[in-house]
This record gives sequence, structure tokens and C-alpha cells, in this order.
Amino acid sequence: MEKEIRHKHDESIETDIKNNQIDYGIFCFSKWLSSEEGNITDELKIILRNQDKENDVKLFDVDENSEVNVIFENGIPFCKKCQTDDCAHTGFAICVKQNIPNLEKLKN
Ligand SMILES: [Zn+2]
Repeated sequence: MEKEIRHKHDESIETDIKNNQIDYGIFCFSKWLSSEEGNITDELKIILRNQDKENDVKLFDVDENSEVNVIFENGIPFCKKCQTDDCAHTGFAICVKQNIPNLEKLKN
């Protein structure tokens, strides 16, 4: 009985970490977007490099100092760097997709 409770507990911690990664990516996106709009922000952690191809979002991870590709297949993002669909980069890329109209405005 005790073992079962512990197992459940571990599972919920793992879920929280995963959600935090996505949330962190969304947080990074909002910071990046407001800097693009000319607002002064703290240091950026993730930057959008380009989104020219429909299903290929190129990011730059400042902390890791490396390019990151997030590929969308059937609408589901996958980070080529982390080999997962639930890291901060995928959270950021999801926001990029949702905000394409706003991003177009920034370009013009
Ligand atoms: Zn990633």
C-alpha cells in the first residue's frame, strides 16, 4: 500500500516538471515578443530565428548558445535538439504558431 502511494507521488512530480518546461517556453516567448515590439525586457533566453517554412520553426537558445529546430508534424511540435515534445523550445514554438498574424505585423 505504501509503495503504491509513493509511486503515484513520483508520477505527479514528473508531470509538474514537464508542464513547467512548456510554461517556461511560453514565458520566454512573451518576453521575446515584447522586446520585438520595442519594450525593454530582461535578458532573453530563447529567440526566434525564422519561421519561413510552415512546419519548421528555428529558434536560438541563449543559455545553451545553440540553434534549435522545432518541427511540426500533423500539428504536433517536436524539438530536434531535446528529442522531445515537451521542452521549453516546443512551448516557445507553439506560441510562434499561434501568433503568426502578430509576427507578420512586426515585419511590416
Ligand atoms: Zn528543446
